[in-house]
Amino acid sequence: LRNRKMSSNHLSHIESMSQAPSGAGKISQLNAVILGESLASEENDLVFPSKEFSAQALVSSPQQYVEMYKRSIDDPAGFWSDIASQFYWNQKWGDQVFSENLDVRKGPIQIEWFKGGITNICYNCLDKNVEAGLGDKTAIYWEGNEPGVGASSTYSELLQQVCQLANYLKDVGVKKGDAVVIYLPMLMELPIAMLACARIGAVHSVVFAGFSADSLAQRIIDCKPKVILTCNAVKRGPKTINLKSIVDAALDLSSKDGVSVGICLTYENASAETRENTKWKNGRDVWWQDVVPKYPTSCEVEWVDAEDPLFLLYTSGSTGKPKGVLHTTGGYMVYTATTFKYAFDYKSTDVYWCTADCGWITGHSYVTYGPMLNGATVVVFEGAPNYPDSGRCWEIVDKYKISIFYTAPTLVRSLMRDDDKYVTRHSRKSLRVLGSVGEPINPSAWRWFFNLVGDSKCPISDTWWQTETGGFMITPLPGAWPQKPGSATFPFFGVQPVIVDEKGNEIEGECSGYLCVKGSWPGAFRTLFGDHERYETTYFKPFEGYYFSGDGCSRDKDGYYWLTGRVDDVINVSGHRIGTAEVESALASHPQCAEAAVVGVEHEVKGQGIYAFVTLVEGVPYSEELRKSLVFMVRNQIGAFAAPDRIHWAPGLPKTRSGKIMRRILRKIASRQLEELGDISTLADPSVVDQLIALADV
Ligand code: ATP
Ligand code: MG
Repeated sequence: LRNRKMSSNHLSHIESMSQAPSGAGKISQLNAVILGESLASEENDLVFPSKEFSAQALVSSPQQYVEMYKRSIDDPAGFWSDIASQFYWNQKWGDQVFSENLDVRKGPIQIEWFKGGITNICYNCLDKNVEAGLGDKTAIYWEGNEPGVGASSTYSELLQQVCQLANYLKDVGVKKGDAVVIYLPMLMELPIAMLACARIGAVHSVVFAGFSADSLAQRIIDCKPKVILTCNAVKRGPKTINLKSIVDAALDLSSKDGVSVGICLTYENASAETRENTKWKNGRDVWWQDVVPKYPTSCEVEWVDAEDPLFLLYTSGSTGKPKGVLHTTGGYMVYTATTFKYAFDYKSTDVYWCTADCGWITGHSYVTYGPMLNGATVVVFEGAPNYPDSGRCWEIVDKYKISIFYTAPTLVRSLMRDDDKYVTRHSRKSLRVLGSVGEPINPSAWRWFFNLVGDSKCPISDTWWQTETGGFMITPLPGAWPQKPGSATFPFFGVQPVIVDEKGNEIEGECSGYLCVKGSWPGAFRTLFGDHERYETTYFKPFEGYYFSGDGCSRDKDGYYWLTGRVDDVINVSGHRIGTAEVESALASHPQCAEAAVVGVEHEVKGQGIYAFVTLVEGVPYSEELRKSLVFMVRNQIGAFAAPDRIHWAPGLPKTRSGKIMRRILRKIASRQLEELGDISTLADPSVVDQLIALADV
């Protein structure tokens, strides 16, 4: 094993923080900032966990983190094998805990963890918990689209449901290593389907059930599944979506391309659509309820190697053609379970809700695998978070007494647009930890989330990670150190983030640049399915010797990491490199701004100018005065060089189905290249584009 040198420039700062004062004073300072009484620089704003929270936390002080972190870097093999030993292995891994090559100059990129270890992740999620006495514990609370509709499963019941489906899949010929595509909404059957595939060693590929027939077909053609699992229809908010007809169209498209899928197992979601109204192809289509319940409720596990593939997940496609990210079994298991436990300070009494769909990596690692490996009680929600109104999330929090609530900044910002009464009319007193993922969370959204939703008592774990990383990379440990609103804080155990300049030189201390990672971690993806060359070119060639994340990042004087957005989105104004996230968060700190998206446009003098799309709080009218005060906000917080040249009023922003802003489209609108908008069908709401064009000259 290569001896790994620590990139430790965040450690000395955090060590010295252990002497810092606790709580209350800081929170009132924070309130003052919200009320606009002071425009303190974000970097200096510390929000401390309460003494009570830290006292009960798994990691309760900076020193404890530093000790564990140091060990994880100095002795990764020892650190991770101690943790891995707590899982069930049918046979222990070989002499080498891990082996890696992340340097293209030294040969093919290769990462292996726990190679030779024989295990099964479904066994560790279900059987192991049942054997440990958690059989009667609720594994899943399912909340339907309509308030009042719900169901639940204990760990024993879930195990039986998984086994029945696993037996069915085996019976129709699905074998270890075969791909299975899952195109299901957030029914209980979605995690069941994932676990059933894992149980028999099949490789699942969940496709978010909001993707079009074209996108689904593209993925089917790439991974050639034997079986596809879907349901006839689903209700999301007031809308009914006929998933089965989308699948039919996708299967037609893929068979034209020579990929025919033998079986389409269709769950009858009677609340959305009847059997009679569902189009049917005899011989291929099978009703789930007609076959699966007939199978035995126990099913032998297929034992697999730690390095056997667990799943394929195509990235959301904010940029370019989707990539089939491949994760394997052992390292992913150990990593998701451990990150879940520490980043959310998980306790066995917690009830946990992650609002992400299982169609995204967040739903893989932190709805299904991470929580269940810890024997947690998980809430799965079918509906839309603002249906029937903006209070739905908090109603659900109270109903199930949710203690850990994990969501995305896009949802926080959309709920913020509405009246606070939707939050305050619910008690939310069960909450103790909040989480955020998907984009940088701008400090004003952070504060609303912290002060209002969490009653100024719940730390926020702002977790930076990617489909590719499998699990959290930079994240608060909620009881260990003070947070800074908008910063993902420090690296998780075993993770060595480095910031490099254009030439790939590591920069130390306070700086900004390209975010890379040195060395491997157990949850890292191993390849892009069928295209190892693209894997190397995209992630390991830009900066030789490192994994390149594609994101920009800065590190402040205290060692905190601040994600500044994708580097493709960086704007260069008169030689200043400006991250979109910085300008957007300055705009969003204006009390009347709900959300902002910033792009660069050609500028005769400055090279690039800043063009800002701004969504206002519900009910606020557009005005020239408001335009000026928004620009002033940016001048004041960042500097005159970052002041937007143009403010474009935006009733809504074009977003991917995972809720991320698609700046590619905004750039075209900003430069009025309206014929070159490209494919807008992958947007969550394509009609937003016309609304924006209509407001171009307002
Ligand atoms: P694609 O790679 O297909 O373009 P994507 O990058 O949006 O899609 P994901 O893997 O789901 O797909 O998202 C990871 C990206 O999301 C990160 O690279 C980063 O840009 C952003 N991100 C996620 N969490 C955070 C966070 N806490 N803070 C800042 N950015 C985040
Ligand atoms: Mg990405």
